[in-house]
Amino acid sequence: MEQVLLLNTTFEPIAVVSWKKAVTLVFLQKVEVLGVYDREVKSISRSVRLPAVIRLLHFVRNGKRGVKFSRRNVFIRDDFTCQYCGKKFEAKHLTCDHLIPRSRGGLTEWTNIVTSCIRCNLRKGDKLPEEREMLPRRKPYWPTDYQLLRLGSDVKVLPEIWRDYLF
Ligand SMILES: [Zn+2]
Repeated sequence: MEQVLLLNTTFEPIAVVSWKKAVTLVFLQKVEVLGVYDREVKSISRSVRLPAVIRLLHFVRNGKRGVKFSRRNVFIRDDFTCQYCGKKFEAKHLTCDHLIPRSRGGLTEWTNIVTSCIRCNLRKGDKLPEEREMLPRRKPYWPTDYQLLRLGSDVKVLPEIWRDYLF
């Protein structure tokens, strides 16, 4: 289950993709291969070394691609830290808070949802952040796969060959 680091044209990491997707991108000539694993994969006519790091040949805007919105991913993005009181909690003591409450038209999406402990969530209630003077410590953002991977727990297993490309 090798995973492949995808870089933007600027060499900025933007995602982690499956090797199958990577091989497809190579085949479609959308990327160049910067590093390979030892393993080989067989295509119809020949074997190729499995790509480890690939770089897009055309720039894409970072951030809005393919990261699943879920409670857990919100917690990972915010490092399991309540964005109001700044304390860290286990997932079972956390909830997702709408910055702009749903009752006031706020959407359930990355840029309007922050991690909150139960207590802060109750305290904020149906108010806007300014009304309660509860501003999140960090403005919520749309993370990339790469950011989630890096912030999440699998950081230790990042392939060695990626190291040159991570900041
Ligand atoms: Zn809190």
